[in-house]
Amino acid sequence: MKNKRYHKGVLVRTCKKCKKIIDEKSLYDYCPECFEKIQDIFDKIEEYLKEYPGATAFEIEQETGVPYHIVNNFVREGRLIEIPNEYLNFECKRCGRLLLSAHHKYCPSCRKEIEEELASVKKQLRGSLNGGNAKMHIRHKEGRRK
Ligand SMILES: [Zn+2]
Ligand SMILES: [Zn+2]
Repeated sequence: MKNKRYHKGVLVRTCKKCKKIIDEKSLYDYCPECFEKIQDIFDKIEEYLKEYPGATAFEIEQETGVPYHIVNNFVREGRLIEIPNEYLNFECKRCGRLLLSAHHKYCPSCRKEIEEELASVKKQLRGSLNGGNAKMHIRHKEGRRK
């Protein structure tokens, strides 16, 4: 069986990550400390997937910072399920970086730049429209009333 080794002549179960000896009856393949760390990472992924269902491992890495191979580990452990994505934006429409995302057209750094550009354009517009937001009324010509 996996994750077992002989310790003083006895076959013991070990943490998959740090190789520390763990309780034979443990529900998990990790020691409590490692399990907690892994759970934190999993929560991050889960949260992201709630917002963006069907995100690819690659996208998860870009968006949450959780390395691709860790995401794939969860797949191997059966905690995440892979489904083929039909509609993927393969690359960032702005800088061409590999994206593999079903949700985003731009990579995170381009999105940030675009946001900043938009914000500055809005600011400029607001400046140039100073006073231009008053309601317009047609002035009736004198003498034409009644
Ligand atoms: Zn451990
Ligand atoms: Zn980009």
